[in-house]
Order: sequence, then C-alpha cells, then structure tokens
Amino acid sequence: MSIKHVISVSGGKDSAATLLLAIERFGKANLVPIFCDTGNEHQAVYDYLVYMESALGITITRLRANFDAEIAAKRKFIACDKRTRREYETALVFDVNGEPVPKRDGRGNIITRKVKRDGQEIDEPVQKTRKIGGGRRVRWSNKGKRRALELLLPTGNPFLDLCMWKGRFPSRKAQFCTEELKRNPAVEFQMALVDAGHTVVSWQGIRRDESQNRRNAKKFETVGGGLYIFRPIVEWTALQVFEYCASQGVKPNPLYLQGMGRVGCMPCINANKAELKQIADRFPEHVERIHAWELLVGTVSKRQAATFIPAPGITPAQAVDHGIYAVIDWARTTRGGKQRDLLAILDDHSGCSSSYGLCDQASHELEVA
Ligand code: SF4
Repeated sequence: MSIKHVISVSGGKDSAATLLLAIERFGKANLVPIFCDTGNEHQAVYDYLVYMESALGITITRLRANFDAEIAAKRKFIACDKRTRREYETALVFDVNGEPVPKRDGRGNIITRKVKRDGQEIDEPVQKTRKIGGGRRVRWSNKGKRRALELLLPTGNPFLDLCMWKGRFPSRKAQFCTEELKRNPAVEFQMALVDAGHTVVSWQGIRRDESQNRRNAKKFETVGGGLYIFRPIVEWTALQVFEYCASQGVKPNPLYLQGMGRVGCMPCINANKAELKQIADRFPEHVERIHAWELLVGTVSKRQAATFIPAPGITPAQAVDHGIYAVIDWARTTRGGKQRDLLAILDDHSGCSSSYGLCDQASHELEVA
C-alpha cells in the first residue's frame, strides 16, 4: 500500500507554496496535484497551471464537476410539476418590551439551533417570525415551463450548469459552489485512490489569517478510512508565501499584479467592492459573461430572475432589471454608494496594482530562473 499526496492546486499563491513544499519534502513520484475547474476562471489561471507544469516538471490532473444527471432530473420535474405554493416575506416577532419572541413547536417547546460562540457550541433559541402580506405564487407558470425546458440543457460549464440546476447563483449564505465544484470532485477523486488501496494525504493551502472561518484551521486531521488532511502553511502569512515561492524560482499568478487579492473564480461571489471595480475595469469580458449567465439562469428559474451578486439596496423582486451591471455601478462609487468616484475613473490600469505590494518583486525578484 503506497501513500499518495494529493495537492489541491487553485492557481493561487497558497496552493502553489503548498505544492512546492510537497515536492521539497517528498519529491514528485508520489504527488498527485489536482485542479478543480469551476468553469468560472480567468484564462490566466489556466495559463498559470501550464506554466507550473512546465516549470516544475509535473502533471496537474484537471477535475470538472458534471451536472448532466441533475439537469435531466430537473427537466423531468418541471415538465411534471403541478404544485401550487405561496412564498411570503417574513418579519421577526418581538414582545411589548422589545425582547425577541422564541419560536415553539406544536407542544410548546422552544425550538433551538446549534451555534458557535467564542469557540463553544451552544443551543440558541430560534426567533419567531410572522408572514407579511399575501405572498406570491411560486409554482411554475406554463410560459415559464416552456422557456425553461427550451434552455435548461447542460452547457458543459460546471459553474453555469450548477446554477441552472439550482435555478440561482450561490451567495455568501448559500455558498454551494465551493462544495459542488471544488470539494466534492476532490473528495471523490481521493476516495477513488483510497478504494484502490492507497493511503491518501490531502494537502490544502489554507492559512489561518485569511479569514475568520479559517482562524482555527488545524494543521493535521485524520478523516478516517485511510484519508488524512495536511495544511502545512496554516501559520504562514501571505508575504511568507510569496517569499517562499520566489525562493523556489516560481513567479506568482499575474492576476495578483492586476489588483486581484485572491485567485479563484472571476468574479467570486465573495469579491469585495475594490475587486469588483478592478474586474470591471480590467476584464469587462467577464462582466459581460456573467450578465449573459444571469439572463440564462433567470430564464430557467422559477422566479424568472437571477443575479450573480445582488447590488446593495436591490430587492430580489427588482433583480430582473439590476444584474451584475448594477453591482459594478455601485463598485465604482465612493463610500456610501451614492457618488461616482471621479478620481478612480481617471485611474490608469496598465500598471501593477497588486494588493500585496508585489510591483518590485514582480519585475525584479520573481522572474523564473
Ligand atoms: S466561493 Fe468563490 S471561488 Fe469558491 S467556488 Fe464559489 S465563486 Fe468560486
């Protein structure tokens, strides 16, 4: 039984450093670098993978999620759907003293949910809600069914097919893209290696200072059944990562030099205001692509509307006329979101605007040997 070190490569700096560490410690023979292609990537990511393969003398296995079966099942469901249902706006209920009223089950017991507070898991009461207004019918109209059945067909693009299947785009609260497009294909691949008799160590380029969600990330975890997780750079900073890659003669993905704080989907649903502005200014073709996706996903959804990132102040009902372009308009405003930033409009985007201060390194230190 051999040990396979599976390295998840994203085209970003952290996974590049993780891959380099794995090569340094174990050589290339038992390494299996993988890349989960979301289909919502910038061409620079695909080019960077090719660059890494030739610079390091490795092969990166490309994995793409497939939703053909789910889309076929949804087509059948739409064609058969006879349900009528109403969807209501809701509001939280407070008592006369302004205290939240807890939700109760049929026996009068308070309903609770598990939440984490200061690292401790506790049971928190769920607050009661009430319906507002008369609601609206959310069953498929015959016209909607006809439109959806005409267009709801697999495109071969994982991100777009996932959204067409779900009838919506992922969001910060419902981040199903990571699970469906990255985690599941990677785990399936690793489990196939385990089933073939290998012990698998899954190397992940995660750092604790990246986000609140990752602040408690463990360095090593035993999943069970011959599968382990290793996160060798959990304690590193972004600067250490760039410096380590440079010391190994590997240059960063050029997207870091063009205002991108992270390399992943273009755009990511978690992109901040500054990143959205950079994307719109530098890569308008991606904004146009997302707009075309919004029209398609909206057409095959029951609501007949879908937005990639809802613009602040736009309700779901208004979303049909306010897609990605409304978000970009907002991203071009100054604080408060009301006034256009005239100085920013004059920005020259031909140079480097790395969020990591890579300008000098990019031109002098990080050239590939
Ligand atoms: S969270 Fe962002 S980068 Fe990750 S899959 Fe979703 S859109 Fe892509």
